[in-house]
Amino acid sequence: MRKKALSVCVDMYGCPNRCRHCWLGHMPNKAMEAGSDEWLINLFRPYYESIAFYSWLREPDFCADYRARWERDKAISVNALPLRFELGSFWRLVRDPDYVNFLKEVGTKCVQLTFFGLEAMTDKYVGRAGAFRELMQATDILLKNGISPRWQCFINEENKDEIVRVLELSREMKLSERCEEIGGSFKFFVHEGSCDGENLKLYPIRIAKEHIPAELIPYHLNYGELFSEAELCERLAGDDSHVALPDEEDTVLYVSNGYDLYFNYEHMKPEWRIGNLKADPIEEIMRRIDEEDTFALREVKRVTVGELVKRYGDPSSPRAFEDEDYKMYLLNAYLAEEFDKGAK
Ligand code: SF4
Repeated sequence: MRKKALSVCVDMYGCPNRCRHCWLGHMPNKAMEAGSDEWLINLFRPYYESIAFYSWLREPDFCADYRARWERDKAISVNALPLRFELGSFWRLVRDPDYVNFLKEVGTKCVQLTFFGLEAMTDKYVGRAGAFRELMQATDILLKNGISPRWQCFINEENKDEIVRVLELSREMKLSERCEEIGGSFKFFVHEGSCDGENLKLYPIRIAKEHIPAELIPYHLNYGELFSEAELCERLAGDDSHVALPDEEDTVLYVSNGYDLYFNYEHMKPEWRIGNLKADPIEEIMRRIDEEDTFALREVKRVTVGELVKRYGDPSSPRAFEDEDYKMYLLNAYLAEEFDKGAK
């Protein structure tokens, strides 16, 4: 049944980073033409009671006139307002002294910053030199302006020891105390990320649960729900259910800068595409959404978890996954292969 509320997130400006864990997958930056925001709203307006419009789905505020852009996102939304979340652009924070004032104006209390280790490792994983120094500088700018930084770290076999150093660094910088001084709280957490988009390429160095350093266990997200791939293969072999896709209260759609349309719960690869908003009539797009008639959504009802384990599981692998992430990893391996067969 069609949901009443829609959030539509559009890659209107792109992202300055090329993170190796990016679950969306890397895409070229391209500014979309003027008027594309209104065109998109008008396209969906007849089908939803409310529409929250986001002019970004990668880096927030990655357009020069971010103030006017935020006002425009609010103004063109229909019976809804976009949210800010605990996000901001560290790229912009260190380049534009007024940006932190904007974050305060829109009520930001906390901004998440992502680390992959110390300087060389973080620069390598963010995909550009200087990223680590910018994260340090951004932490300082936020604190001086009454906003708490939250450090999230992605861990794998290559960087696990450096993530311990990042934790130590946060202590040396007295980030907990400094956040308390401004009435906030410092959060530090570690996880291995889902296994899709760019992070899929890191499967060979995905961390084994027993290799997670003891110092990091209290900070590891859902540590108790992590299992080795071998354990999951054993448990899920013969499972005749189908992978359950997220079913949120509202529909959230992602639009690429080439007008390809996706649901928000998986990477933006051809096998997950709903259609192209310029090439396909909106009536047909809505039919595909309503009837769950896309390549991925048809296939997910066809293949069982047990079959996925048989085809793509490695029963000798110590790599750590949460149950749902592992099923999505298997499903994505299947979808990519089946889609390729159809394309050939
Ligand atoms: S993870 Fe976020 S910041 Fe990094 S490349 Fe992807 S969209 Fe950009």
